[in-house]
Amino acid sequence: MIEDDEAIGSLVGAYLEQAGFDVVRECTGEAGLDAVERRQPRFVVLDLGLPDFDGFELCRRLRGSGDVPILILTARDEEADRIIGLELGADDYLTKPFSPRELVARVRAVLRRAEPVTPESQVIALGDLRVDLRSRRVMLGGLTVGLRTLEFELLAELARHPGQVVTRDRLLDRVWGLSFAGGTRTVDVHVAQLRKKLGRPDLIQTVRGVGYRILEGPVSREA
Ligand code: CA
Repeated sequence: MIEDDEAIGSLVGAYLEQAGFDVVRECTGEAGLDAVERRQPRFVVLDLGLPDFDGFELCRRLRGSGDVPILILTARDEEADRIIGLELGADDYLTKPFSPRELVARVRAVLRRAEPVTPESQVIALGDLRVDLRSRRVMLGGLTVGLRTLEFELLAELARHPGQVVTRDRLLDRVWGLSFAGGTRTVDVHVAQLRKKLGRPDLIQTVRGVGYRILEGPVSREA
């Protein structure tokens, strides 16, 4: 966020942080440009009225150095300014005073447009099992299956390799992390829980002494 107004800066910053963003605020255009270059943020909230820089000029400079999404904040409310802001490549525009909630919503909307989700890479569909890697939702036979974090990670790792054996060691490494000191028995216990929750024991096969395999292809038969 490049904003010199302390009150607006800290209020907006607090709302963005509450929404899960890490916020870095700079109070001058010079420091802002520098920070954008160093930190490569996902998003810039830019106040047009800065002490050292014309906001439009700054927007131009930011645009020139990359395609980071920009949301302009301004006290100016003239149609011409809006058009200029958007023509300069700002992604959205809010006029002060504005609701911080609306700002958060706008930031999210711009990010959604800027980082489109390709369904192929985010949702794994195996028969009537759907594993949504982004929303971390699992559907089986059209019903949502509630899983704990580890169970979800386990299922996701298996689903990324349909029809292939995934070893216990690999599952330990991917799901629990290298630092985890527990044994492969932990994997077995969690797979058992996962099977129970899925309610379809044949979906995940045990490959004795090696690991597990999730079925590929249609698995829509009733359990
Ligand atoms: Ca200002």
